[in-house]
Amino acid sequence: EELRGEEAGPSGSRQVPGYCYSRVRPTPVPAPRLLAWSDELGELLGLARPSERSAALNILAGNILTPSMKPFAARYGGHQFGNWAGQLGDGRAISLGQVPAVDGRRWEIQLKGAGPTPYSRRADGRAVLRSSLREFLCSEAMHHLGLPTTRALSLVSTGAEVVRDMFYDGHPAPEPGAIVARVAPTFIRFGNFQLMAASGEMDNLRALADYTIRHHYPELGEPSPAVYEQWFAEVARRTAVLVAHWMTVGFVHGVLNTDNMSILGLTIDYGPYGWLEPYDPDWTPNTTDFNSRRYAFGQQPRVGLWNLMALAQALGPLVADVQALRPSLDLYAHTLATTQHELLLRKLGLTPKEPAADRALTEALPEALAGPQVDMTIFFRQLSHLVPGLLTGSSADEEALFRGLLAQAAYEAAPAEDQALLDWLARYAQRLRQETADPEAIRTGMLAANPKYVLRNYLAQRAIEAAETGDLLPLNTLFEVLKTPFDEHPAYETLAAKRQRPEWARDKPG
Ligand code: AMP
Ligand code: MG
Ligand code: MG
Repeated sequence: EELRGEEAGPSGSRQVPGYCYSRVRPTPVPAPRLLAWSDELGELLGLARPSERSAALNILAGNILTPSMKPFAARYGGHQFGNWAGQLGDGRAISLGQVPAVDGRRWEIQLKGAGPTPYSRRADGRAVLRSSLREFLCSEAMHHLGLPTTRALSLVSTGAEVVRDMFYDGHPAPEPGAIVARVAPTFIRFGNFQLMAASGEMDNLRALADYTIRHHYPELGEPSPAVYEQWFAEVARRTAVLVAHWMTVGFVHGVLNTDNMSILGLTIDYGPYGWLEPYDPDWTPNTTDFNSRRYAFGQQPRVGLWNLMALAQALGPLVADVQALRPSLDLYAHTLATTQHELLLRKLGLTPKEPAADRALTEALPEALAGPQVDMTIFFRQLSHLVPGLLTGSSADEEALFRGLLAQAAYEAAPAEDQALLDWLARYAQRLRQETADPEAIRTGMLAANPKYVLRNYLAQRAIEAAETGDLLPLNTLFEVLKTPFDEHPAYETLAAKRQRPEWARDKPG
């Protein structure tokens, strides 16, 4: 109500100047079927798992609206791969509205793949099972890993086919369609503000900023130029914390365009994301980014800053002087470095001692991991188990323990490069001996900071291939395990295994 929305515009894709969103109804689908449901999120929202052919299932498929729902698609723009793209908007996502949760907060439910909107441009507003399953699994996996993220409530197949870019015999092949119900306090992106500023819609820009602050940053108080500055600082801080988390778990978003940056600092829009297998800062899962590698793993800290600069430019008209936003960019860099350091210390079972020496230790780790192309997840998890031995054994044992660790975690065994990591581990072992806590307690703390299970690319692929043939067991098994990624699941050891050597690492473009 505080934002200007277009009530009932013409159908079809078009420019929608002057509005923050457009009212639009989902397009019905023939045969919805529930493929996956997040019980834990359902409980938070006070929603029960829908049964077959129920009204609830049809709501999640976009077939039914309740009288209180006022569905809409948001209008936003963005920089795509560094270039201003103009109006983009929710082309295949339709928000149903907000539900009050048992935690007292309000959560927006959005159907992704629910049909065309004014923002669909030349596309169909639909999503395929493949990408929907990936979004469903990864958003929930990220949440259970403790990362800031939008959530996913349900994965529903539509019974309709969608034609995408997967080629079979030279022709685009039809694929099963699906809809994910995503959930977040809000899906507002950097790009919403950018489009208002770029279009000179200053009233909408201010209304959107005020709405965001009042509803999502109420602790900042009533909007004013000073409050806009504090708000931008908080967005920068949250973005830094987000990127630091990605960097310490090995997550690569893949398309960090400014329309895919949440104003709440959440991971949003799971597209061609991937998880690092061999540690490689140059890796990107996005095949359209293989040449520039703009959004490769190691670029994410810089891209976060670039995107914040774009947001600062859009918010400039709201503050007395855009230069007043500059300190927040320094805050971003500072917060990113300290958060990454703190997260790594925790993963290494270390409590802060000598700041400079500790910093030198954590900052040297990425390069040491890159040499032998170590699997981060396996490395940190197995290191946790070595700690009691390191704190009680002799230094002769130490070398053997570390060689064993490398044999488990490295994709590439190249003795010269391994030496850098072995040297780093020797430094680490020395530093570890300054800790005074009980070795078993240190191990327990590390196991709570180092997940055993992450959504390895090949696991998602396997779940997709099975689901496409109607077998939901791999999806459901994987989902169950990813809900408690720090626990041991003896029956599912294989879900923690590294692949022999992923295809992409074999012939890496120079
Ligand atoms: P993405 O790359 O998923 O972040 O999407 C970029 C823009 O393209 C957003 O405005 C999306 O809403 C839009 N878009 C992507 N796929 C579709 C689709 N199948 N139908 C309509 N719009 C789409
Ligand atoms: Mg997007
Ligand atoms: Mg997307």
